[in-house]
Amino acid sequence: MNFTRAYKTEVALNDKQTTACKRHAGAARFAYNWGLARKQAAYAATGKSPSAIDLHRELNTLKQTELSWMYEVSKCAPQEALRNLDSAFAHFFRRCQLKKAGKLKGKVGYPQRKSKKQGLGSFRLTGAIVVFPAAIQLPRLGRLRLKERGYLPTAGVKLLSATVSEQAGHWYVSVQVEQAQEMPTTTGPVVGVDLGVKTLATCSDGTVIPNPGPLKRRLKKLKRLHKAVTRKQKGSNNRKQAARTLAKHYRRVGHQRANTLHQVTTRLTKTKSVIVIEDLNVTSMLTNHHLAQAIADVGFAEFKRQLLYKAQWYGSRVLLASRWEPSSKTCSGCGWVDEDLTLADRVFRCEHPGCGQVLDRDQNAARNLATLAGSSSDSQNACGAGSAGASRWAGVKLPAVKQEPNTRCASA
Ligand SMILES: [Zn+2]
Repeated sequence: MNFTRAYKTEVALNDKQTTACKRHAGAARFAYNWGLARKQAAYAATGKSPSAIDLHRELNTLKQTELSWMYEVSKCAPQEALRNLDSAFAHFFRRCQLKKAGKLKGKVGYPQRKSKKQGLGSFRLTGAIVVFPAAIQLPRLGRLRLKERGYLPTAGVKLLSATVSEQAGHWYVSVQVEQAQEMPTTTGPVVGVDLGVKTLATCSDGTVIPNPGPLKRRLKKLKRLHKAVTRKQKGSNNRKQAARTLAKHYRRVGHQRANTLHQVTTRLTKTKSVIVIEDLNVTSMLTNHHLAQAIADVGFAEFKRQLLYKAQWYGSRVLLASRWEPSSKTCSGCGWVDEDLTLADRVFRCEHPGCGQVLDRDQNAARNLATLAGSSSDSQNACGAGSAGASRWAGVKLPAVKQEPNTRCASA
């Protein structure tokens, strides 16, 4: 079984390399913005848009005259940026179609210009890439020292590309590799996971993972830093410095969130055979202004994304329960439904005579999700579509035996 996956790690650049990387990122950003303008102009004039290959050819002729500075960077940087632009448009058109069909609530995402103010960005290189235990050799950039030894795979993989990116003064390289992997199968228990804001995840086996709330904890400080930026004169060095300090703090927020999510999703997929989560509609949840910040601070969508791809690596299975399944309102002991349950009730009290179970609300929901897995034994094998229990499932993810990666089963 061949998998395509990426390994991202920080690089330690010297001054010369930093300049070269900035130049490459600049060329990529320029090509992207130039291509976007060209596409818009061509579409307005002829109703047709040039492809990445057409644009690259055009850019190459321009390089001989007015864009001679581009010879200083690898030809991959602008070329791959134009490819990114093509896929940005492909995603935009795909989302337009979904919107038309009424399957999408969020924005369609028309491709935007890239601005240096939002970070230096990134560039992708292909071709002669060599990985050493403590360094990576890239075309035009030479050997870049890695901060973490032995993380990038040095043997047994096919290197496809390397993306160098910048965030708050730190540089990273992400290598995309194709690697063969045995199909593992996790033989663990079935677990239901209820996602929440106060506790990030409540598992049916009793494990509770608290939400570190990385943004919430730093909100006061971030507000002050934001104010510090806007109080400085536009275009001044002081303003740039203040923006750098702010970016550093946001970097820490993002890293802490990512760390927690990675730990939880890795542990779940490595130790459980079946993981049942609710298929939350995060986009529409984010339209609630009272909850948006708290929900975005958890990263529900990222949790689901990580769970799905890691399940493929470690051979566990993720079941997405339909969001209409009353997992919170049903008693996990007897099946009695509490129609009056509100969001404020943190404890579930069963009023069915002979049961009377009193349980933490999230724990109750998690147990219901775990029970759901048992009721779907036939629908799992049939990929969820067409079988009797299909309406309870938003889509069933199987280990990638016959499936292409990233394909979701047809939802009910
Ligand atoms: Zn009960």
